[in-house]
Amino acid sequence: MRRKIIYKYMNNITKEKRQRTSGNTANRPKQAFNRRSPRKKMVSSIRPDQLIKEATVIEVVEYKSERTFDSLPISEELKKCLKAKGYVRPSEIQDKSIESLMDKRDILGIAETGTGKTAAFLIPIIEDMLVHRRKSTALVLLPTRELAMQVEDEFKSMTKGMGLHSASYIGGTNINTDLKIARRDSHIVIATPGRLLDLVQRGAIQLARFNTLVLDEFDRMLDMGFVKDMKQIIGGMRNRKHTMLFSATLDKKQQSLINEILNNHVTVKVSSGEKTNDHINQDVVRIAEGEDKFAVLKNLISQESFQKVLVFEETKHQVKKLCAKLNASGIKSDDIHGNKSQNARQNALNAFKSGHVKVLVATDVASRGIDVNDITHVINYQLPMTFDSYIHRIGRTGRAGKTGIALTFIN
Ligand code: AMP
Repeated sequence: MRRKIIYKYMNNITKEKRQRTSGNTANRPKQAFNRRSPRKKMVSSIRPDQLIKEATVIEVVEYKSERTFDSLPISEELKKCLKAKGYVRPSEIQDKSIESLMDKRDILGIAETGTGKTAAFLIPIIEDMLVHRRKSTALVLLPTRELAMQVEDEFKSMTKGMGLHSASYIGGTNINTDLKIARRDSHIVIATPGRLLDLVQRGAIQLARFNTLVLDEFDRMLDMGFVKDMKQIIGGMRNRKHTMLFSATLDKKQQSLINEILNNHVTVKVSSGEKTNDHINQDVVRIAEGEDKFAVLKNLISQESFQKVLVFEETKHQVKKLCAKLNASGIKSDDIHGNKSQNARQNALNAFKSGHVKVLVATDVASRGIDVNDITHVINYQLPMTFDSYIHRIGRTGRAGKTGIALTFIN
């Protein structure tokens, strides 16, 4: 099923969509796009036809397990909590992974948020805790504080009245509070990599304590630059016996790292694992000779539908300049780039997340830590240098099952 998006708002957006996207593009001559910059290096390898694509809406067939939680070999206490949460039948990822996980097999789960993957890894962990009553054995690592909070909520509601305790350590909070919490024993630790390492380095947490590891949203952790931290944490887990790794996407670059982390694992896929960007409407905005590019941008962003807009610029200097220009023209904006401190970046991100500013202007590198689910538009104010970079940028919109729009300015 194709969803038609009508662009009422601009003449600049090309009407050549169908001609350009239809037919075999492989045989077309490679047409490099020369921006106005005199520097030779700054020539993009992207063809405009690669930037135009309508989003497709995929019909989801609901999965219905043959069995109920009641029929599964788990404790009555846990069944009771699941029932209280309204969980009757396992979701697909739960159904397909529960036996392997109860047998302590390592798992590679290809599943997006919304599939029930949290309960998929929590059920075997909780069951193990109920049976063995051991403390501090499970560590869940994830990329963002929001996810950490969701997982902790899910854990708490699944263990009501069981006397099991969780601790979560996430960046951006007071570390002294974490140091106090770390003195108490907890059954499960839920953390973002940076803060956890900080506590490990202060001697507040011993990684050797944990024998179960969950890496949740693995692809996003890589995306957000946590690979080194992750490796360090895994290296310190000398007694690691059971590892569960969940990722929404899977590409070849991740495979060797995954093979290093997992031992004789089973793979359970409930989504293709491909980054398709099918849910993103992609189009170009053509800037005619002599046309005021900034005025075009301003007109676009002033439209009501442009609610949360991420604009990419090439250099730190250009980012700052564009942000200042947008603010001067009455569009509330903030920026993130390499010259800003971590704190200043976080403040800009928070302002963007909360809707205090409508626009965030960013460089490629600085955009790594952007974790905002409701970005309506990604705008490439300049043509990115590579297609990889383009894909990476536009993936910031259309998250969490939403349809997003990506627009690229070309001359
Ligand atoms: P997750 O993918 O873990 O973020 O879960 C997505 C949503 O599905 C959450 O709101 C869960 O509470 C819910 N959920 C997880 N497992 C089940 C289940 N077996 N039955 C009904 N809802 C579930």
